[in-house]
Amino acid sequence: MFKPCPKCGGREFRVQVTFSGSICILVDPEDPEAYDVTDSEPTDSAWEDLSFVDCRDCDWSGTMADIETDTIPAAMEPGDAFA
Ligand SMILES: [Zn+2]
Repeated sequence: MFKPCPKCGGREFRVQVTFSGSICILVDPEDPEAYDVTDSEPTDSAWEDLSFVDCRDCDWSGTMADIETDTIPAAMEPGDAFA
């Protein structure tokens, strides 16, 4: 579950994610900078609680944890998570 933007109530966010997957490359010994991608597999993207999030309607920015409602309650102090 997600919350709208804490600042403006907007519901569209830009999430910084990391992509992981694999590709095959063909290198050219004659030209160290050249290579061809010969095959690729679908990449997966994933976010974590600490992934950066920007509101697209205002200048609010935070992390996924700030807009997820099923994680640590916002009222908790940061240190409490490790108690
Ligand atoms: Zn906003």
